[in-house]
Amino acid sequence: MKVCRTIVETRAALSERRDEPVGLVPTMGALHGGHLSLLRAARAESRVVVMSLFVNPAQFGDRRDLASYPREEARDLELAEAEDVDLVFAPSAEEMYPPGFQTWVEVTELGSILEGEFRPGHFRGVATVVLKLFEIVRPDRAYFGQKDAQQVEVIRTLIRDLALDVELRVLPTVRDGDGLALSSRNSLLTPEQRALALALPRALATRDRDAALALLRSTDGLEVDYVERADFDPPVLAGAVRLGSTRLIDNVVLEGEPR
Ligand code: AMP
Repeated sequence: MKVCRTIVETRAALSERRDEPVGLVPTMGALHGGHLSLLRAARAESRVVVMSLFVNPAQFGDRRDLASYPREEARDLELAEAEDVDLVFAPSAEEMYPPGFQTWVEVTELGSILEGEFRPGHFRGVATVVLKLFEIVRPDRAYFGQKDAQQVEVIRTLIRDLALDVELRVLPTVRDGDGLALSSRNSLLTPEQRALALALPRALATRDRDAALALLRSTDGLEVDYVERADFDPPVLAGAVRLGSTRLIDNVVLEGEPR
């Protein structure tokens, strides 16, 4: 497995294998079973598997959130190697955002509702970094998790609107045995918060916005940002809650399958 820190290195390494299908799995690291399911799907479908590992500062509004985001690069590289990843692109923030950086991509309407309302600028950061990763890696397929349903919808819109030549692949949300969606941020929860966090998947499992809101509002120690039905493809009931300084999101698919 090759680990590349620069864009030039990555392009050079991939240029040798340009005639083989490339699958890209973008991640922010602190890998868990959700990331592994994306890596396995990519491995099964593509001759060349690229994982990006980049905690993208542009998608964090809150500096403390960025500072506390879990970083476990050595472990992540071991896990990627075990999943037979061919190349990890792990750039510095300066490599992705050199001095004078000023070009942004914004999915305007979709990027300003739900998560976008509570995290202004978040999807601008996501869309910009994903477009840049696509341009660096030039994947045939890119793999994302249904866990971040609105992110999937933003990227689908980005691909369509800018006619990007990449196939979007979406994998179902991977959960712990008790139902909590795996998330790198789960490691930031105290055991008490981890127990309270279960209210989120339980509330969403009602598949009813009002019932979910009532359940969450009756849970002490947990603040609700929103629970809304979103007309994505597929439609979901999505919610976001805060436990202390940790914010968790989740959703359930209401009709059909992630695709
Ligand atoms: P992140 O490292 O959190 O940016 O996530 C990288 C990718 O993994 C994104 O496409 C996420 O949607 C996906 N992902 C995160 N958590 C899960 C999960 N529990 N199940 C499936 N995919 C996930």
